[in-house]
Amino acid sequence: MHLKIALAGNPNAGKTTLFNQLTGARQHVGNYPGITVDHKEGFTHHNGEKITITDLPGTYSMTAYSAEELVSRDYLVNERPDVVIDIVDSSNLERNLYLTCQFLELGVPLVIALNMIDVAKDRGIQLNIKKLEILLGVPIVPIIARSGFGKEDLLEAAIDTASKNKAWISRDISYGKDLDTTLTELISLISKHNFLTETYPSRYTAIKYLENDEQILEKGQQYNSDVANKLEKIVSKTTEHTQKTLDVYPEAIIADHRYGYIKSIVRQGVEKRTFDADRLYTSDKIDKVLTNRLMGPAIMFLVLFSLYQFTFSLSEMPVAWLESFFGWLGGVIENSLPDGLIKSMIISGIIGGVGGILGFVPLIMFMFFGIAILEDSGYLARVAFMMDRVFRIFGLHGSSVMPFIVSGGIAGGCAVPGVMATRTLRSPKERMATMLTVPFMNCGAKIPVLALLIGAFFAENKALYMFLFTLLAWLVALLAAKFLRVTILRGSPTPFVMELPPYRFPTLRGLIIHTWERTYQYIKKAGTVILGISILLWALMTFPGLDDQYLTVFEEQRQETLSRFSPETIASLDQGSETFSGQTQGLADKLGEINNSQTEAALRNSIAGKVGGALEPLTMSAGFDWRTNIALIGGFAAKEVIVSTLGTAYSMGEVDAEEPASLGERLKNDSNWNRVVAVAALIFIMFYAPCFITVVCIAKESSWKWAFFSICFNTFFAFLAAVAVYQIGMFFQLG
Ligand code: GDP
Ligand code: MG
Repeated sequence: MHLKIALAGNPNAGKTTLFNQLTGARQHVGNYPGITVDHKEGFTHHNGEKITITDLPGTYSMTAYSAEELVSRDYLVNERPDVVIDIVDSSNLERNLYLTCQFLELGVPLVIALNMIDVAKDRGIQLNIKKLEILLGVPIVPIIARSGFGKEDLLEAAIDTASKNKAWISRDISYGKDLDTTLTELISLISKHNFLTETYPSRYTAIKYLENDEQILEKGQQYNSDVANKLEKIVSKTTEHTQKTLDVYPEAIIADHRYGYIKSIVRQGVEKRTFDADRLYTSDKIDKVLTNRLMGPAIMFLVLFSLYQFTFSLSEMPVAWLESFFGWLGGVIENSLPDGLIKSMIISGIIGGVGGILGFVPLIMFMFFGIAILEDSGYLARVAFMMDRVFRIFGLHGSSVMPFIVSGGIAGGCAVPGVMATRTLRSPKERMATMLTVPFMNCGAKIPVLALLIGAFFAENKALYMFLFTLLAWLVALLAAKFLRVTILRGSPTPFVMELPPYRFPTLRGLIIHTWERTYQYIKKAGTVILGISILLWALMTFPGLDDQYLTVFEEQRQETLSRFSPETIASLDQGSETFSGQTQGLADKLGEINNSQTEAALRNSIAGKVGGALEPLTMSAGFDWRTNIALIGGFAAKEVIVSTLGTAYSMGEVDAEEPASLGERLKNDSNWNRVVAVAALIFIMFYAPCFITVVCIAKESSWKWAFFSICFNTFFAFLAAVAVYQIGMFFQLG
């Protein structure tokens, strides 16, 4: 027999820790179809039998309010695990049992893992487990998930319960006279028509009708609308009654009685506190300092800044290794393949693409490791708590601060890990608004472009301008978030329900597993798409190439140049070297110039070039000519490509993104560029479409619809802003 066990419980009750203890590395992480709620499955063996264990999302309740709750519910009723292990934080017994109560109502075969008994003991909480077991009528096994204590006993108990294979019977909890009468009426109707009975116990369906549960109501209508209408009628009569007499909905009465049921159990000598419950626990003492009105924010900025430093400085080395590895690989291919399309595709499309994907891996890994520390220790919840008041003004949540910082809130981040970091946000709308606005931050790839243009046009005040543009990024991102939250992502802010869990020392094992899970998802989800788009962009900038007619012209120029130099000079050029003497250098320069013009001509003739040219009449209203347009199209591959593409478009040959001084000079002297154009271009580059790797991440974290929205919304906004800057600037002749 192949047993299926589901782990369920409140957030922070230790589910994941237990899951990892039971399954070790034998696990599989995915998403539930259509939503980004983690679906984790792992395996273990017991007495030679294979057992599948599923880690359900943490929830406090089983209503139909959040994706997590729906997922847990649907999993239980559709997959019918043989047994559910409900993980209960014993240091927070009453609150955790609220969910347990709902499992009892659903009637699933249940075993309770009473976790964190070490913490309970430290806090002076004494538990009478035998008594709790009798009162609840469910097997209970005390465990310490973190150390693995009790996990074998737990497994035994779970297998024992599973093998009894009992039918699902809901626990008969009283909800007061009014509701109990209605329930009886509902249940008899439900049983008579076998209404949804193959999925839910009748009593459960009845309770859900009373709770006005949208999902069940809808299912009911689909299943048998006659019966459903009858049930709804009975419920609305009762609702009217409770409204009139008690001024509450049945939902609230049910919740009250659940709490009452739990209280009556816990207060019967199950839990004894040997010292005053109001005593300041260590966590509260720490919080006195860390969330202090004055010191709190200061410490927070220090911590966040350190995280930022940690992520970007530690990942610098591995990123550099990867870069030099791919540089080396490119070199090998350069030398071993004949010139031509295949070679160019492998170097620019494939190696560029794969390198692009893997280049982000160290960054994402270190960031998630840092976030895992903050999260597992309980500090992240405090950061969110402190930032909430500020972010709320812009329709965001306290937890949005991390994605913003990672994306370049301190200039030089990256929106890819930023988008991934939005996973800590629970409300879908706030998460979406954050995800869509983090690409406005000044990521590391925009820095060379900023440096190029500021260096060329505002050399006297470089640092000041850099700082101003960072502030501008924040301002625009937050205002855009506000705009989204009052238009397409309108909705009331979620109350700050994130609880402040007690501080804990994170475990290395937990940190590593958390980090690896998230990093692996990035590689797996984004990998193939990124490679495809990278090849596509290469094709756009390469095809159709130059006509034979043009190639002949360049070839003739070459021949003509060669004919003006002596055979000795040509021979010494062929020998190749880093530097040449007088005559030879002159020849090398001439040939280089011809090559550059040829590359420029080919680029102009490419699809991207033609698009850039076709857009010129429109883009000139922001001061961008066709060359700038091509660079901006190339910037969709990665923002730093803007510098190198501008180099090609201005026949500068290869321009190093790190040292673009000569290109800066060239732009400064170009008749089409001036300070106003430079500012318009900067604004456009900061705010237009995110690079496609970010776009793919947005798509994978939400949907392609939102990914396309972000391309269009950002580009449209950036263009309007650039046109405004250009037109106003030119009007006042600031150029
Ligand atoms: P989940 O949200 O239910 O998945 O909870 P986690 O497994 O992520 O655990 C939350 C925190 O509680 C982590 O920092 C764990 O290390 C810690 N933790 C889990 N079980 C125990 C335990 O039995 N004792 C102690 N002291 N800490 C635990
Ligand atoms: Mg978890």
